[in-house]
Amino acid sequence: MRILLVNANTFSNPPCIPIGVEYAAAALRAHGHAVGVCDLWPHPSPLEELLRRLDAEEHDLAGVSFRNLDTAQAARYINFVPDLRAIVEELQKRGLPVILGGSGFQAMPREALDYTGAEFGIDGPADLALPRFVAQFEAARSAWMGAPAEARIVNAHVMGINPDFVPERAVDIYYPAYIAKGSVAGFATQYGCGGACEYCVETRAAHHMRNPAAVAAELKALCAQGFDDYHLCDAEFNINLEHCHGVLDSMAGARLSMRWALYMKPVPCDAALLDGLRRTGAYLVTLSVDSAAPARGQYSWDDVSFALDGLRDRSVKCAVDLTVGLPGEDIGGVRRAIEFFRAARPEKVNVNAYLRVYGGTRLEALLRSQPELHAHLDDELPPGPPLFRLFYNQLPLPELKAMLGDDPVFKLEGFDRGTNYELFHD
Ligand code: SF4
Repeated sequence: MRILLVNANTFSNPPCIPIGVEYAAAALRAHGHAVGVCDLWPHPSPLEELLRRLDAEEHDLAGVSFRNLDTAQAARYINFVPDLRAIVEELQKRGLPVILGGSGFQAMPREALDYTGAEFGIDGPADLALPRFVAQFEAARSAWMGAPAEARIVNAHVMGINPDFVPERAVDIYYPAYIAKGSVAGFATQYGCGGACEYCVETRAAHHMRNPAAVAAELKALCAQGFDDYHLCDAEFNINLEHCHGVLDSMAGARLSMRWALYMKPVPCDAALLDGLRRTGAYLVTLSVDSAAPARGQYSWDDVSFALDGLRDRSVKCAVDLTVGLPGEDIGGVRRAIEFFRAARPEKVNVNAYLRVYGGTRLEALLRSQPELHAHLDDELPPGPPLFRLFYNQLPLPELKAMLGDDPVFKLEGFDRGTNYELFHD
């Protein structure tokens, strides 16, 4: 079958090489399909580029991948779904059935499908689910087209991944254009998280780990093409400590000439993990911390210190993404967190007090069951899952600013510019 895969993410703050599209293209080719990739990011007029490709090539099916529903930042809010709908409509005008996918789709699949009018969706990793869907498509097409939305979304979280899959990379996407704009190559060691943070869409996704040898083989091939600068695409690296050790050992064994940045939680963490990061060229860790977590018993400030000190001892820079003001959190917990980091002095602490309310999260469920929390919303809670702007904030900005003072270690997320890897990339 002839399939066009479209990268619909044209946002440039920061620019992101679409590895999900690359993985999907490689998986489809491995099953004998003819795949074209249309990357809309580099083009000032994305729809014109899409039309140009549609005029030039024949396809049977289109897949559209998008990375985010929106910016998730209250101060710089942009919703990407209307642009996505325009792309879907152009494809449908050419008679192409459209499959949506990508991490943006996984955030609120049912709502994204309804709003855009796309026919199908892959909710989860595509490397197994998409080829299976395409294999059955011709036979099942007419029955599927008339089915309700739920039945037109493939639950790829349940299907899982091929842990040994090594996709060919940098074939369809022109990396130098991204790198010239400050981007770096990405790689993934796992999918999902298995965590329970109330504001996070990753809680919907089942956790699947790749074979460490496959991760190292993929990186080796990319390094051989001259790419030596990476950002890990995992939601958090240290979900399973044994898996971390395996990945780091495989990377070290492959003697990769690379450096990389990554996200981590404070726990689990041990000396072998920290040593492995240093050994494999990690130069920046962004530590995700909730100010409410110590009071909830999820981890202690000693755990946070262990990670911060361990990284500093190994000359790995550490920035912190600090989320404050979770529902029911005591203001004393926020003060404690701010004073902790004022003393600990990581490279930077990005403080976020505005939680985007996504459908299907525990935060949405809390808001539906506790109407008294609605006073902290920036708009009315809609009857259905909020596909468009809705933020929860129980710590007013002036109060937060007064707590932070003029200490340059703190940065207000969404108000001050720059991602961590852009700020600390030398
Ligand atoms: S640990 Fe990180 S990725 Fe996992 S649910 Fe919490 S915020 Fe999301």
